Amino acid sequence: MFLRKLLTFKRHLLPMQFVREPIERRLLDMSETKITRVDVQTTTQCNLACPWCPHEFTDDIQQMSIGLFKSIVRQLGDISYAGNFYPFMMAEPFCDERLPELIRIASEGMPLASISIATNGLLMTKDLYDDVMQHGNVKMLVDDYSHNQIVFARIQRWGVLPRTNITNRKNGPPSLINIAGHLDTRFRLPLRQGCMLPFHQLAIRWDGKLVRCCMDWNGEGVYGDLLKDGIANIRDRMTQLKQNLRKHRRTGMCARCDAVGVV
Ligand code: SF4
Ligand code: SF4
Repeated sequence: MFLRKLLTFKRHLLPMQFVREPIERRLLDMSETKITRVDVQTTTQCNLACPWCPHEFTDDIQQMSIGLFKSIVRQLGDISYAGNFYPFMMAEPFCDERLPELIRIASEGMPLASISIATNGLLMTKDLYDDVMQHGNVKMLVDDYSHNQIVFARIQRWGVLPRTNITNRKNGPPSLINIAGHLDTRFRLPLRQGCMLPFHQLAIRWDGKLVRCCMDWNGEGVYGDLLKDGIANIRDRMTQLKQNLRKHRRTGMCARCDAVGVV
């Protein structure tokens, strides 16, 4: 008891960087092998042009093939993936008319995963909503960016909706970041701190390319091709990046990024 009190007391005497660093490093180590989040860019399309979003930097309108989507789901199902699965990235998921079919494939192929759809809600009809929400492991996150909250008013009329969250976003996201340098800088760069995102996220572009993270809007940091390699092989190639981030070294697009990196 005395020892614990002494350690607690001494900890308060340490400068904050000595306390924070080992904790952050431990978090990075712990998350080394555990994927808890998979983002899949099923389409590159969006029906809005929000000022805080670099959507204009994405490729022309492209769609992931159903064959590739099935292959990703099968590989994750084979390892009994039980983390979060986002069937969209840098786009509006309801712009893809195949969404109900994609959700069915994902839900059946990864019964342990938690599938989340984040949408601006403008294209979501009640029929489409029912179609995707019939699967028990799907959650709906609606960000209402409209000034007069028309999405909220419309969805409210649908009654009590389980596993659904609607947020008023008329003033934008809660915190603005520069999205790997695509938008105006918030912090003075470079930041001397790591980033946990590549340790637990798989960010897969429409063409099957695994990129550094979900902020790689134009495929700058490609680590492999899921059309040719398996997910496990591709992740091994991110070793150098992770070593740098563990040492608080931000290289390439990370050097332009002001995300604090603890997700
Ligand atoms: S709705 Fe989403 S993807 Fe589309 S421009 Fe706005 S923030 Fe970007
Ligand atoms: S520092 Fe920024 S660009 Fe680099 S992995 Fe983290 S979030 Fe992505």
